[in-house]
Amino acid sequence: MKSDIRVCSAWESTHERPVYTLSETCPECGADAENSAPAPFDPTDRYGEYRRAIKRRNRE
Ligand SMILES: [Zn+2]
Repeated sequence: MKSDIRVCSAWESTHERPVYTLSETCPECGADAENSAPAPFDPTDRYGEYRRAIKRRNRE
C-alpha cells in the first residue's frame, strides 16, 4: 500500500528537520509537500547495484 505521508519539499532550507504532513502543502511554510517514499538510490548502499548485478547474473 502506498503511503500518504508527505514531506515538505523545502524543509532542508526552511526547517531544521523534515516536516511531515498528510496534506499536499507544508503546514508550516506552505511549500509543496512531496511523497516521502525513499529515493530509489540509497547513497549509503554503495555496493547495492553491484550486488543486484551479481544476483541477476546468477539467475541467468
Ligand atoms: Zn515547510
